[in-house]
Amino acid sequence: MQGSTRVSHLISQLTLDEKIGLVHGNGFFETKGVKRLGIPPLKMSDGPMGVRQEFPKASWKPLGLSNDYVTYFPSNTALAATWNQNLAYQFGQDLGEETRARGKDIILGPGINIIRSPLCGRNFEYMSEDPTLTATMTVPLIRGIQEKDVAACVKHFAANNQETRRLEVNVEADPRSMEEIYLPAFKAAFTEAGAYTAMAAYNLFRGTYCCENTWLLDEVLRNQLAYDGVVISDWGANHSTEAAALAGLDIEMSVTDDFDDYYFGDPLYHAIESGKIPLKVLDAKVARILSLMEKLKIFDHRRSAGSLNTRDHQDHTYETAIEAIVLLKNDRNFLPLSKNTYKSIAVIGDNANRLHAGGGGSAEIKALYEISPLAGLSAHLGGNHKITFVQGYRPDETAPSHEQFNLREQAVRAAKAHDLVIFVGGLNHDHDREGQDRLVYTLPYEQDLTIMALAKANPNLIVVNLSGSPVDLSVASTQAKALIQTWYNGMEGGRALAHLLFGQKNPSGKLPMTFAKNLEDYSSHSLGEFPGDEKVDYTESIFVGYRHFDSHHLKPLYPFGHGLSYTDFDYDHLVIEKIADGYQVSCDIKNIGTYEGKEVVQVYLHDEASSEPRPYKELKAFTKVSLLPEEITRVTFTLTKRDFSFFSEKAMAWVAEAGKFKILIGSSSRDIRLEGDLNLFLY
Ligand code: BGC
Repeated sequence: MQGSTRVSHLISQLTLDEKIGLVHGNGFFETKGVKRLGIPPLKMSDGPMGVRQEFPKASWKPLGLSNDYVTYFPSNTALAATWNQNLAYQFGQDLGEETRARGKDIILGPGINIIRSPLCGRNFEYMSEDPTLTATMTVPLIRGIQEKDVAACVKHFAANNQETRRLEVNVEADPRSMEEIYLPAFKAAFTEAGAYTAMAAYNLFRGTYCCENTWLLDEVLRNQLAYDGVVISDWGANHSTEAAALAGLDIEMSVTDDFDDYYFGDPLYHAIESGKIPLKVLDAKVARILSLMEKLKIFDHRRSAGSLNTRDHQDHTYETAIEAIVLLKNDRNFLPLSKNTYKSIAVIGDNANRLHAGGGGSAEIKALYEISPLAGLSAHLGGNHKITFVQGYRPDETAPSHEQFNLREQAVRAAKAHDLVIFVGGLNHDHDREGQDRLVYTLPYEQDLTIMALAKANPNLIVVNLSGSPVDLSVASTQAKALIQTWYNGMEGGRALAHLLFGQKNPSGKLPMTFAKNLEDYSSHSLGEFPGDEKVDYTESIFVGYRHFDSHHLKPLYPFGHGLSYTDFDYDHLVIEKIADGYQVSCDIKNIGTYEGKEVVQVYLHDEASSEPRPYKELKAFTKVSLLPEEITRVTFTLTKRDFSFFSEKAMAWVAEAGKFKILIGSSSRDIRLEGDLNLFLY
C-alpha cells in the first residue's frame, strides 16, 4: 500500500463510511475528517489572487467577517508579465503564508491554462499564450506556496481555454498541441515543482469529462508523470461514480449542499459495498489524501505558521505590480513625466476610479485595501497639482448613447482645461470573468470614441489600458503619446502606476500574450474554433499566439514579449558553444541609457529545416537583468536536446532532428537583436 506506516495504519482503522467522508465535500470548501483518529477536514480556498473570503459550510452567502481581509495579489497574468521568477517565488511564499494564516490547507491556484483566445473570460487568472513562459513562472510560484506547508491546486486540468459552455463543451485537440502547448506547464508543475494537488476541469476532453478521463488522469498524470498527488474535481465537474473513481479522481467537490448525494458520497459507498468498485480503489485515494496531510505536516506540530497582511506582503505586491506594467508606446520619450512640467491633470476613465478586487468570480478578493490609479496619482502628487477626475464613459453596455456622449463631452471639457490627460480605461470584471467569454475584441463602452475625442482636445494624452486579456488598442495606439498596459494588478496597482508614470520607477514588464490588430488574426478565430458549440476543435494545433502570427506573416499591434523601458539596452557578443548535454548560449547586455532599468532577455529557437511543420520561432529561455547606466552583464542560457525537439505524431514521441538552427535573442519576439547559427549534431 502507498504511503507511510502512519498512513497504512490509519487506513486500517478507518470504516468505509469514514473513508467516504474523506473523498468528497462535506462543505463547499472542506471534506469531512475523522475526529476519533485525529484526521481533520481538508480545508480549501480560492484562489490565484489571494485567499478568498470565508463562506459558511453550506451557503454561498459570505460570512461577512472582519478577519478575512487579505492581501490582494496581482493576477497571474500580471505576474507572468514581470517575467521575473524571483517575484513568482516570493508571490508563492506570501500566498502560502496567507493561506496558512487563514487556516487552509489547499489554495485553489495557480490557473495555468494557455491563453488561446483573447476573448476567454478567465484569461486574467491564467498566465500566457506561451508554454515556456507559463511553465517557468509556475514552478517557482508553486514551490513558494508549498514551502509554507500549503498545497497548490494547479488548475484547470486540462484544455480549459474558454468559459462559453464550460460545463459541457468537448475539446478536440491533437496530440502535438497537447504535448507542445497545453500540457508543458502542467507537467512542469507536477514534475519540477511537485504540486501536491491538481484540479480536474469542467470540460470534456476528446469526448470524456476531465474528471473521468483515463487518458488525462491515468495515462498522463499517473503513468507518464508518476504523479502521486491528489486530484480534486472542479466544483461540480464530476459526473459519475464508477468512471471517475476508476479514472483516478480523488476528491469530488461541488456547489450544492446535498453532500451525501455527491457521486463520491452515498453512491460511492454503495458501489464499494456491492463490490462494483474494488475497495483498493478507494483505499488508494485515501492513501493519497492522508499522504498529502503528512506532506502538509497536518499530523504533527512542525507545521509552519502563516501570516496575513504583513508589510512585506504589501511591499512584494508593489514590486510585482511595478514589474508587471508594460510600456507599449512612448513617443519621443513623452514618459516619464516630470512633476514640474504639468501642473493640472485630467484623470479620465472609469478604471481610474474603480476597485476591481471584488470581482471576476471565484478569484474575487476581499482586499484589505486597493489603491486605484486615481488614488495612486493623488497620493504621489501630494496636493501640489490640480487633479480632476471625470468618468469619461459609463461601464454599462446598455447605457444609451446619448449618455455616453454626454460623459464624453464632459471629459473633453476637462481635457481642454488641463495640461495633461491620463485616460485609464480597458475592461473590468464584467468582461474579465468566470463563466462567460467576451463577445467582441474592441474596447467596450465606446472608449475608442472617448480616446479620439480626448486626443483632439488635448494632445498630451496618455492612455492606460487595464485588462486581463488582449483588447483592440489600435485606436489608442495611434491617438496617445504614451500607451501603457496594466492588469488586475493587486492592491498596490494604482501606486505602482503613478510611480512608473512619474519616473520613480522604470517599466520592465513584457507582454505575456500577443495584442493583435484584429480578432481574426488570432488562430483560434481564423483557423480553429472559438468558442465552438458543443464541441470546439483546436484545428490550429500548435500555432497558438505568436507561433501563428509568425507563420502567417501577420503583424501584431504589440507582439509577445514586447515592453519598453525609459532606458535602452545593447545586445552584443553572442557566443554559442557545444557543451556536454547541449549548447550554451551567452551574450552581453549593456544599459546604454541614463536610467537604471531591467531588461528581459528572450531566447528563441528557429529550426531551418524540419521534416514536420514548426513555428518560425519558439521561446526557449529568458532571464531578467537589472542594470545601472553603463553597466554591462553577461547572460548565459543552456539549451538541451529537448529544446530542439518537436512532438512528432508519426512517432508519437519527442523528436530532435540534426541540422541547422538559429538562435534568436531578443528584447521581444519581434525585436531580435542577435542571431547565431548552430548545426545540431545529435548527441
Ligand atoms: C472554478 C474554480 C474554483 C472553484 C471553487 C469553480 O467554479 O472553476 O476555479 O476554484 O469554482 O470556487
